[in-house]
Amino acid sequence: MTSDIDETHAAGRETWVARARGHADFPIQNLPFGVFSTAGGEPKGGVRIGDQIVDLGALCAGGPVESDALVAGRAASGPDLNSLLALGAGPRRALRRRLSELLSDPRHQTAVESALVDIAQCRLHLPASIGDYTDFYVGIHHATNIGRLLRPDNPLLPNYKRVPIGYHGRASSVGVSGEPVRRPSGQTKAPDAEAPTVGPSRRLDYELELGVWIGPGNDLGQPVAIADAGAQVAGLCLLNDWSARDVQAWEYQPLGPFLAKNFLTSVSPWIVTAEALAPFRISQAARPEGDPKPLPYLWDDDDQAWGAYALTLEVAISSARMRDQGLAPHRLSQVAASNMYWTLAQLVAHHTSGGCNLRPGDLLGTGTISAPTDDGLGSLMEITRNGQAPVTLPTGETRGFLEDGDEVIFSGKAQAEGFVPIGFGECRGVVVAGR
Ligand code: CA
Repeated sequence: MTSDIDETHAAGRETWVARARGHADFPIQNLPFGVFSTAGGEPKGGVRIGDQIVDLGALCAGGPVESDALVAGRAASGPDLNSLLALGAGPRRALRRRLSELLSDPRHQTAVESALVDIAQCRLHLPASIGDYTDFYVGIHHATNIGRLLRPDNPLLPNYKRVPIGYHGRASSVGVSGEPVRRPSGQTKAPDAEAPTVGPSRRLDYELELGVWIGPGNDLGQPVAIADAGAQVAGLCLLNDWSARDVQAWEYQPLGPFLAKNFLTSVSPWIVTAEALAPFRISQAARPEGDPKPLPYLWDDDDQAWGAYALTLEVAISSARMRDQGLAPHRLSQVAASNMYWTLAQLVAHHTSGGCNLRPGDLLGTGTISAPTDDGLGSLMEITRNGQAPVTLPTGETRGFLEDGDEVIFSGKAQAEGFVPIGFGECRGVVVAGR
C-alpha cells in the first residue's frame, strides 16, 4: 500500500491557488471529483481545490493535460462521472498527478487559472448517475444498539459476524447535499393500537454512513475476488440514510426496509478518491477473541492489513430557532470509521459473490457507523434511546427525533501523522413539512 503514496501526498506540496493553502477539507493533497454548473450552464465535471473548482473540460481543451491523464480528464468533463469511474485507478491517478503538478507549479498558473471557477458561483450536483444503490450494516455498535432496543437479550443476530448484511436500496431518491428532506408520510401502528394509521412520520431520523462509489464494476456472473475488490472502490463520500423509524418498525418484517428509507438518501457532492485516501489506510481492527474467521472468499491478508481508514466523522444539528439566534450547529457525535466490522473490499466481494454485477457509478452505503461510546452514536434513535432520552439543544429545545426546520450536518476528516489532513466537505439537509 505504501507504493500508492506519491508526490501528490507530500506534506510540503503547496498550491498557488488563492486561499487553498491550509484549507481544512480541500488542500492540494485532496483533489476530489464532482459535478457542478454555473448560472444557465449545463452540469460538468470538476475537481475541487480550496474554494475553487477546476473545470476539467476547459482545462483539457487548453492543452496542458496529455495521454492517460487526458483520457481521464475528458471522461470526467461530462454531466456525470460514470465514464471516469469506469476507467479504474490508472487514468484517474495520472490525472491526479498532472493536476497536482499544474496546481502547485506557479509556471502553470496562467494556463490553468482560466479553468478555475469560484465555488460561490456554482451549484453542485450528484457526481454520478447512480444505477443501483445498496445499503449495508457494517457498524457493529449500531447493529448492537438497535438490536438491543428490539431484542434486549439477543441484540446481534447469529448471521452478523458471518455475512455482511445488506439490502438493495433505491437509487432514484439519492440526492446531493442540500436537498430538502421532505417529511415522509407513511403507515404506522402503535404497539397497543388495533390498526395502523397513515400520516407524517413522527420519528424522523438520520443515519451517519460512508458512501462508496464503485469504479469499473464486473460482468454478470463474474464475482470479484476479495484480493481484487479494493480496486472497485473509486472513492468515498458522506451518506445520510434518512429513516422514518415509526414507519420502519411497522413495515420491516419480513423483507426489511422499504418506504421508511426510500424517500431520500443524501450524499456529499465530492468523490474523495481512493488515491487521495491512500495515506489514511489502516489495518482492519482485529476481531474480538472468539469471533468466527470469515469464510475464505471474504478473507485477504492484504485487505486486513490496509482495508480500513483513519477517518473521523461528525454529526451536528441546527434547529430553525438556533439559526434565528445565530447559534452555531450543535455537535451530536464524533465517531471513527474504524468501527466497521467488515472492510469495503469485503462488501464488494460479498455483493458480487453470487454473480451480481456492479456498474460504474453504483453507490454502496456502509450502514450506520457508531462508536462503542455515547459520544459517538450515528443516529438519534441510539442517542435518545428511541426517543426516551431526548437531547437538549443550546436553545433549551429538546429532540427525541427530528423536527421540521432542523438541519443535520455531516462532516468527515482523514488524518495521519506526517500527512496533510483532507476532508469530505459536508452533507447537509433541512427537514421540511410533508405535503
Ligand atoms: Ca442505513
